[in-house]
Amino acid sequence: MYDYLIVGAGFAGSVLAERLASQANKKVLIIDKRNHIGGNAYDHYDESGILVHKYGPHIFHTNSKQVFDYLSQFTKWRNYQHRVLANVDGQLFPIPINLNTINSMYGLNLSSNELRDFFDSCSEKRKEVLTSEDVVVNAVGRELYEKFFKGYTKKQWDLDPSELNASVTARIPTRTNKDNRYFTDTYQVMPLHGYTKMFEQMLNDPNIHIMLNTDYKDMINEIGYKELIFTGPIDEFFNYRFGKLPYRSIEFKFETYDQEVFQETGTINYPNDYAFTRITEFKYLSGQKHNKTSVVYEFPTADGDPYYPIPKPDNAELYRKYEELAKKLSSTYFVGRLATYKYYNMDQVVAQALSTFKKILSATTTNKYLIRTDHGSVGRH
Ligand code: FAD
Ligand code: UDP
Repeated sequence: MYDYLIVGAGFAGSVLAERLASQANKKVLIIDKRNHIGGNAYDHYDESGILVHKYGPHIFHTNSKQVFDYLSQFTKWRNYQHRVLANVDGQLFPIPINLNTINSMYGLNLSSNELRDFFDSCSEKRKEVLTSEDVVVNAVGRELYEKFFKGYTKKQWDLDPSELNASVTARIPTRTNKDNRYFTDTYQVMPLHGYTKMFEQMLNDPNIHIMLNTDYKDMINEIGYKELIFTGPIDEFFNYRFGKLPYRSIEFKFETYDQEVFQETGTINYPNDYAFTRITEFKYLSGQKHNKTSVVYEFPTADGDPYYPIPKPDNAELYRKYEELAKKLSSTYFVGRLATYKYYNMDQVVAQALSTFKKILSATTTNKYLIRTDHGSVGRH
């Protein structure tokens, strides 16, 4: 009999397995329908021996010391600050839009203060910033919105930015300085030997049993367990009772080129041309030295593995119905990007899993207390 059955060996499931096993001495069975651990952060060496991310580029960044310190127990890091260029009108410009972007695009030599005035003069001020269109036109105006955001967003989500919550394009700030980095978080690092190695360390505990190539639906009645942690899609768990929650998928096309370098930075975005949104060259992320190079093209699709929850009001409404069902279940926890239908980065999922662990611990303590009083004994300790 396991104390915990954990469905999904991605960040959500693996963090909880590690904490329950090492800190609460629980017996854990973690299962995944895929043939590997790591969930969408899984990486591996391709045929040419280059470290690639099977489910698209995963760049770690966080402002949380707690999350960084926690993961540091399982890996060493390499510093890596991601830089992205956008291919617009046949030229490459830094994204997020910043002073360098505007000066090079318009042949100007503005200062940061002058750039503020420039944005003021072209922005369409919105009283309320509700949608992904509002965010961008409110900050930089329609022309830059159309060059950098409208086409990319349509490709990525198959929706106009006006149909998506503000939170989606708000991931990309607008800057008035010359900072070309994609992220400005305190910690910007990559696991030195890759994500999969880090997951192996996390799950390397005698209390943890791993079962791969296993769909929980085929096994659930055969496994003895006390509590369940589910990190797959929440609508699937409830047999789509209220209908399918929309997720966006991506087809990844990997290429290896017989040249040392393919492009001039880690990722190049293609907002307006081609069916793919971006190309990422892995050696920038890993720092690996190799005389060949591997890249991935991302083609967003409607069908396929569920990768992105789609942040818009009606989807949030549908999710809330599933969340209500989830709340009614005892001894069952829903954690992670798919199970809580949140467009979370890796660090946010780790933080969510760590706080779930705390909840579980305190529920266990309360249960013990209740059992004791049920049996007519001693009261609170
Ligand atoms: P997952 O990693 O999806 O793990 C869930 C696991 O559950 C999967 O392994 C799945 O196989 C398993 N599962 C589902 N159903 C079943 C079932 N029925 N039976 C058994 N197992 C099941 N985050 C960043 O911080 N930085 C980035 O640069 C970044 N880039 C990304 C790029 C792409 C293309 C994508 C899709 C995501 C990116 N993310 C990034 C987000 C990151 O992948 C997630 O935050 C994180 O991996 C979520 O972890 P999770 O454990 O919630 O889910
Ligand atoms: N986005 C855009 N143009 C860009 C980069 C991002 O329009 O050059 C929008 C797009 O809607 C995208 C969202 O901002 O889906 C979030 O971008 P991010 O790079 O954070 O996406 P992720 O890495 O999660 O796929």
